[in-house]
Amino acid sequence: MADKSSSKVSSRLAARRQEKMLEKKKETVTKEEKEETKPEKEAKNEMNGNGEPMENGAEAAVNGATANEENGETKVEPMELPPFEIILGDRIDPFFFKFQFKNVEYSSGRNKTFLCYLVDQGSSNEGLLRGYLEDEHSGAHAEEAFFQQILPKYDPALNYTVTWYVSSSPCVACATKLVEILKERKTLRLSIFAARLFNWEEPEIQAGLKALAAAGCKLRAMKPLDFSYTWDTFVENEDQRFTPWEDCQENYEYYQEKLADILQ
Ligand SMILES: [Zn+2]
Repeated sequence: MADKSSSKVSSRLAARRQEKMLEKKKETVTKEEKEETKPEKEAKNEMNGNGEPMENGAEAAVNGATANEENGETKVEPMELPPFEIILGDRIDPFFFKFQFKNVEYSSGRNKTFLCYLVDQGSSNEGLLRGYLEDEHSGAHAEEAFFQQILPKYDPALNYTVTWYVSSSPCVACATKLVEILKERKTLRLSIFAARLFNWEEPEIQAGLKALAAAGCKLRAMKPLDFSYTWDTFVENEDQRFTPWEDCQENYEYYQEKLADILQ
């Protein structure tokens, strides 16, 4: 009896140890293979975008990768999916959020824009929209993609309140497009809260931001409280609270001051 129960314990321990090992391996896979798992996301997003079910092939590929992980194999087979440009999603990976939204002065390595959005269409039928987009600064930028993919239609009978939390403020081309959109969509109010100001020293960028503000767009740098709110609302936070990085408040003040100078 004693032997039996101890062997049960030891086998349970062994199983737990194996589970832990697998978890560790999984973690490694997730970290190392971030880039490769993105196409999966895209496959899912295509489903969301078109409202069509995921193709069997893509689903099988996703399942296949999961099954491999569960067998303890660390290798995730690369999938044959087209290269992505715009990614749509519900919640951001916390690792990406902390990197992409960090309000450092020099944004080296951050070559894409993350855009978290809230849309209130002022009508109970339309409801609220919430989610995020990211771009690769290759095709359409996130700002433009928002109006192509999230809010392509405009009904002048509705009042739209659109709030964006973006990792960096719009480029010249996007600012110009946003001004056009705001002129066309008279009942749409846009607020942009930016973690960083993109190339704010360039006169063209400054002119773009001024034009945006003149078109009625509310512009502000993200405060520590905004990061915390964004974390709660748009990040796979697993009930963890947001801890601001060092200099979060100082960097906010820095960017807000620059922005105030530009817009005055
Ligand atoms: Zn842009």
